[in-house]
Formats: sequence, structure tokens, C-alpha cells
Amino acid sequence: MATRINCTAWLVNPWHAITSKPSISKPRLQFRHTLFSSSSSYSSSATHGAMGCTGSTNGASETDPFVLTTPLYYVNAPPHMGSAYTTIAADAIARFQRLLGKKVIFITGTDEHGEKIATAASACGSSPREHCDLISQVYKALWKDLDIAYDKFIRTTDAKHEAIVQQFYSRVLENGDIYRADYEGLYCVNCEEYKDEKDLLDNNCCPMHLKPCVHRKEDNYFFALSKYQKFLEETLEQNPEFVQPPFRLNEVQSWIRSGLKDFSISRASVDWGIPVPNDKKQTIYVWFDALLGYISALSGENEQPDLQGTVSLGWPASLHLIGKDILRFHAVYWPAMLMSAGLSLPKKVFGHGFLTRTA
Ligand SMILES: [Zn+2]
Repeated sequence: MATRINCTAWLVNPWHAITSKPSISKPRLQFRHTLFSSSSSYSSSATHGAMGCTGSTNGASETDPFVLTTPLYYVNAPPHMGSAYTTIAADAIARFQRLLGKKVIFITGTDEHGEKIATAASACGSSPREHCDLISQVYKALWKDLDIAYDKFIRTTDAKHEAIVQQFYSRVLENGDIYRADYEGLYCVNCEEYKDEKDLLDNNCCPMHLKPCVHRKEDNYFFALSKYQKFLEETLEQNPEFVQPPFRLNEVQSWIRSGLKDFSISRASVDWGIPVPNDKKQTIYVWFDALLGYISALSGENEQPDLQGTVSLGWPASLHLIGKDILRFHAVYWPAMLMSAGLSLPKKVFGHGFLTRTA
């Protein structure tokens, strides 16, 4: 998933050819499984110590792997300082956990679907597939240069990932949390999401990308996020360490309190994506695809992809390390999606700030 940081200081830029071109119902609070796995450091009590980053194994079984993730980086452009920042921090945490004798599964990878990728590929005259192959290799090369000791590198175009996304989607559908509706609104192609007019700047410009949003009307599938409002409120209240640092928890709680809206999880006009299982004319929206990379990464190379089997290989993650710009997706959308699919929640989401440059 994209750490959508606009940064001009490229760490590597071997691809001059690329970069020189222009480039509804009542809340359902009964669940099939406990929210947090039995080995999780969370329980109904919020008194446990901080998980993972302190080296504490408080509440976790000694045999549980310590699973940590970086975002899956969006391959519309080569890596930048922001991607390196998160990955270096994750590498330091992974090394520390290994020193403590823990089995560590350090996951990183690339998020490769969506309209923006197809546009970036066509701007440099390549197919989306060629473009993704190229940029994901640039990421791998950079991590090698920086001596990043990751254990799993997942690409969202991997066949095993696509199979797991479709199985996850089908579970959520069976649970009654997916419905079809027309949507009309202002869309930021760079964020790949519809925006509320109140969140936009003058001329309907996206505050992140400073470009005008475009008016769109589409027939999409939606995820019933609003059903999970109460669940999310209670989860965060009972497990305040789920979102760190604490001021980001406050931010997340205030988003939730302001009212959660269902969000669209498919696109009708985007070919470069995973087809919706029951409707081949639509592809799955980037977040409903990319977040699943944290699970699909756990599966072995030659295994038949199977959601439940893969979950048993290390889910839930101990720590999602992310930039603050994608906090909402990880701390609000993702827990609700997991809940709907009957899967445990990650133990912690840590949202760090941006690197800034002073003159
Ligand atoms: Zn935007």
C-alpha cells in the first residue's frame, strides 16, 4: 500500500527513462472467533505492557513468531526516502527481536494494482506488468544495498496473493458485509478514493496531492464499515495500545466518533486489478487487495494458496509499521475487514511521522 509521501529526494533513481517522462444494518457484535488470538498480548484488560517494541513477550507464547510488516509500497514510482525510513526502522526492530531469540517474520513488498499504476506504466510506454516487474526489482535492489534482512517479499500480483484476496472477499460477502450501489462523488486518482467535499481545498483539490478531484459516477461494491463502528470504538477503548503512539490513537478515535461510512471496494473502470469473484466486470479496490498482502506473504512459495492455512502460519501480525498517511486504512478499515472475515486483529499499528526537510 502506498506510503503516499511526495518527496523529491530519491534514494535511488536508476530509471531515468521512467522518471524523466511526465510522469446498514444494526451493528453485529457476535463474531466467529475471538478478536485477538489467544496468544495475543491483548485481552479484555488493557493493562498489558507494550508489545514487541520493548522486547517484552508479555502475553505472547514463546513459540509465536514475531511478525512485523512495512507497508507494501506502491509501485507508481521508484522508492524514496519515506519508503526507506519505514523499512530501516522495521529492520532494526526485526534484528532486535531476533537477538531476543524470537522467530521473526519480517514482511515487506509491493502494491501493484490500480489505475495509477496503469497510468504510470503507459506514461513510460510499458505494460502494467512490465512496469511492476521493473519497480519491484528496484525496491529489492535498494533493500539489498541497505542490508535490509526481510524474510518475505510479497507482490500483490503474485498468484498466491490474488487467490487469497478472492477467498477473503468471498468470506466477507458470505458474512453479508458487501453490497452493490451507485456512487457519485469527487474522486482523487492519486489517492484512488472518493473524497468528502468538506475535506477538499479550493477548486476541489485533494489536500494531499494538491490536484483537483474529478467528478465520477460508478456502480461499485461496498463494504459495510458502518456496521463496525461500535466494535471499533470498544476495541480501541479496551486495547489502547492497538494504535501507537497515543496521539495517533486519539486521531483514530476521533475519526471513528465522527461516524464511519461504508466504502467502495471495487472499481468498474480499472482493468489492472484482481477481478471481483462474482463479477468479472469489476476489479477489487486497492486497499481491499493490498492489505491482504500481510497475510498472503506468510504462505510458502509452492503451497496451494488457502486463506485459513496461511493464517495458521503466523497471523496475526505483531506489528504493522506505517506512515501516518495510511493510518485510517490500517487502524479502521483493516480491523473491520478482518472482523468480518472472522480473523484475528493485528496486535499493534504504529504510525510514524514524515521525514521533513528544512531549508
Ligand atoms: Zn489525493
